[in-house]
Amino acid sequence: MPLLQLPKITSEKSLNRRAEKRRDAAFIDAAFNAAGTRVLALPDLRVPIYPTPDRAPPVLRWLSVPEVQALAAPLDFAFLGEDETGTAVFACNVPPYHRDFAGAEAALHPLVDLRSLALQTVSHETELLIAAEARALLGWHAHNRCCSRCGGPLHIIEGGWCRTCAGCGQSTWPRTDPAVIMLITRGDRALLGHELRFPDKFYSTLAGYVEPGDDIEHAVRREVKEESGIDVGAVEYVASQPWPFPHSLMIGCWGDALTEAITIDRTELTDARWFDRAELASMLAFTHPDGLFVPPRISMAHTLIRAFVDGVLPRA
Ligand SMILES: [Zn+2]
Repeated sequence: MPLLQLPKITSEKSLNRRAEKRRDAAFIDAAFNAAGTRVLALPDLRVPIYPTPDRAPPVLRWLSVPEVQALAAPLDFAFLGEDETGTAVFACNVPPYHRDFAGAEAALHPLVDLRSLALQTVSHETELLIAAEARALLGWHAHNRCCSRCGGPLHIIEGGWCRTCAGCGQSTWPRTDPAVIMLITRGDRALLGHELRFPDKFYSTLAGYVEPGDDIEHAVRREVKEESGIDVGAVEYVASQPWPFPHSLMIGCWGDALTEAITIDRTELTDARWFDRAELASMLAFTHPDGLFVPPRISMAHTLIRAFVDGVLPRA
């Protein structure tokens, strides 16, 4: 059986995060002040790239610490880890209310949204992973500025991986929201839906957040039942993928449908249908007679659909 081709965003080629050093203030300071240290500065959480000629994949625009400090100060820096040469890598957000925002934004032009960067495919896979780590972590900082218990200001500790309140002592850490995304099959056919927010003719696997009290299998069965009315029996984990839009973990699953009749939840979907393998293959290839298509290669949905078309799913 062929191996499942994982999506472009996987964590295997990312930085060595050196998590054991985050509480070592002397280590973080030394890393920050080292000559070769690299910084990814994100004006309003957008990623600076070097423009490249004609469709060439974009390259991240790295700065030194002094270069970033010349653009905007003060800034909060987060330690992302060390690259394969042992060089420290930091990231910082330049928020839109910062007094130097306009200048930094102009100096770092062009800036791209991480999602579009992922769709364009960065030349170096590790760079996309670093950008994803930075975007998720800095996005968490941007939305956790005050204590959820007493409302006081939070300050950053542990190299940017924790915020703590001087008023009441409560600490908070970056969170990841698990979401299930599942290919539901019945014989030679798979269930895809069209959400209200999707572009015309675009179909994808069903998906939803894992709720309090759910395990993964229950979340799959619950979401599919809610959105399509289909009962699901066996559920298997297939693969996972960080999805930092803003901070999710996509848990890719396969599920075996026990029933066939579809009842669409109109608050979530405008359509849901069974598609056979030949039709799915044409949707992957953009040759469907009605112009129907599925998510791009980078996504878990694409991986699951491709695996079904290729006979990798369901597993024997
Ligand atoms: Zn507090």
